[in-house]
Amino acid sequence: MKATQNHHFSYDVIISGAGPVGLFLACELALANCSVLILEKAENPHSPLKQLPFGIRGLTTPTIEALYRRGLLEELEVPKRLKKPHANVMQGPRHQAGHFAGIPFHEVDVDTSRWEYRLPGSTATHLIAELEELETVLARRAKSLGVTIKRGLAVTDFYQREDRVTVQSGDQSFQGKWLVGCDGGRSVVRKQGGFEFAGTEPEFTGYSIKVDIADPDKLRPGRNLTEAGMYFQSQPGYLLMQDFDGGAFHHSQEPVTLEHVQEVLRRISNTDVSISALQMATTWTDRARQTTTYRNGRVFLAGDAAHIHAPLGGQGLNLGLGDAMNLGWKLAATIRGKAPEGLLDSYEAERHPIGVQVLDWSRAQVALMRPDPSTRALRAVIRDLLDTRDGATYVAGRVWGIQTHYEIAGNHPLVGHSVPNIELEDGSRIGEQMRDGRGILLDFGSNLSLNLLASEYSDQVTYVTGRANDLFGISAVLIRPDGIIAWVSASEPDEQSIRQAAALWLAR
Ligand SMILES: Cc1cc2nc3c(=O)[nH]c(=O)nc-3n(C[C@H](O)[C@H](O)[C@H](O)COP(=O)(O)OP(=O)(O)OC[C@H]3O[C@@H](n4cnc5c(N)ncnc54)[C@H](O)[C@@H]3O)c2cc1C
Repeated sequence: MKATQNHHFSYDVIISGAGPVGLFLACELALANCSVLILEKAENPHSPLKQLPFGIRGLTTPTIEALYRRGLLEELEVPKRLKKPHANVMQGPRHQAGHFAGIPFHEVDVDTSRWEYRLPGSTATHLIAELEELETVLARRAKSLGVTIKRGLAVTDFYQREDRVTVQSGDQSFQGKWLVGCDGGRSVVRKQGGFEFAGTEPEFTGYSIKVDIADPDKLRPGRNLTEAGMYFQSQPGYLLMQDFDGGAFHHSQEPVTLEHVQEVLRRISNTDVSISALQMATTWTDRARQTTTYRNGRVFLAGDAAHIHAPLGGQGLNLGLGDAMNLGWKLAATIRGKAPEGLLDSYEAERHPIGVQVLDWSRAQVALMRPDPSTRALRAVIRDLLDTRDGATYVAGRVWGIQTHYEIAGNHPLVGHSVPNIELEDGSRIGEQMRDGRGILLDFGSNLSLNLLASEYSDQVTYVTGRANDLFGISAVLIRPDGIIAWVSASEPDEQSIRQAAALWLAR
């Protein structure tokens, strides 16, 4: 078929996929005045799998901070409705604050005072959201910023040239300066782009099912690890199951029938429970893979397109939104001709190692869920450890994403970390000043040389001066548009050091 040429439709960036990662990236790019087209395969953005209870997604600290900094957090109703984080799935006298391989840890055991730079009054450390609502809020924001979203158009292929990428969707073609594949675990951009997807094969088939059960008393509520696998009943009839079949059923592509689901559920629950109707079913696995690179010329990958792993402990969405927050401002700066050398490559350098950590965190959980006696013994040990202050604090730091940071050279422990939500004299918080997506030079000392430097970069950085209510002994901070600290001064600012730091992230 002959391609229809749409050369007059030329965009700065074309994004494949209007999932949460593609939408958030589009918002970041549009905020920085880039023209963005999203091509989305599905015509209908709604799906029961994106709605509660299956669409429940745990948000970690970096995600909550990112949404807060762009004024999006307040638009999410589900966390407000649930009031308490995890309130709908975790009850009991000791409030459960998360889990590792299904082993709970509790809020009271977590010693938050060890997170030296986390301020009281910062955003929540963990929240629950609904995937569909998150996508709705992000799509609304993207459209209000001028992003074009075309639904029902799947990216089928693309061709790179020196200065642009031509993206095919069937017989239609679109031109962009850059292409970002945010098209999920089966990414066409990844496959067509020749990215290597390396990793490990699955140990189980996971099921998300909605069923009518004739004899519901035969099943227990909540998470149940048994001698044959795991089943989790969040509400009557809504079940997640893990069957350690090496992922065979998922890969067989056989239809998920009532008979099959009943057989798996009976075996895992060790009951003769009867399913009277199968209303919905989907399968997934713990296959863990990551592309070895995140960039090929003018093409990037972000989100599930770049990394997949078991949804245990729910980190995939957070990992993907972190990719988008990191890539957005760097790509926008490049498009505006304001990127210092190496800025765009720092996306992969910073995000790939975080992906490695998350995949291993997921693998460790799968290993702790294997239905065999040795694993059960090991789980008992880990359970005891998670009941200690050290154990709970360590796991919370990782599950909530508090420990996430980038390796950036600097002379202060805060460099490379997310900026604390410092309260300024006027009662506002620094996170609220980041809605426009620009960098910030925060100067508590009204230093003349910092003021001059900020004016030299005034198209990229906002100069904020004044006093703060909690300074941690800091006199000035350079904050990247993604909220990461690029430079800190704990005493009289050294002009040479801030100029060096600024030149790494900004361009004149
Ligand atoms: C049961 C389950 C529970 C989970 N729980 C959590 C959790 O609690 N916390 C968490 O962080 N993560 C969780 N995850 C993972 C999380 O949902 C994913 O990591 C996240 O949705 C990935 O977002 P994405 O935008 O990268 O990809 P997706 O959400 O997969 O979106 C990709 C989009 O691209 C579209 N698309 C696909 N192919 C094309 C194409 N060729 N052209 C154009 N468009 C295309 C798709 O239709 C889709 O809209 C869970 C996953 C599952 C399965």
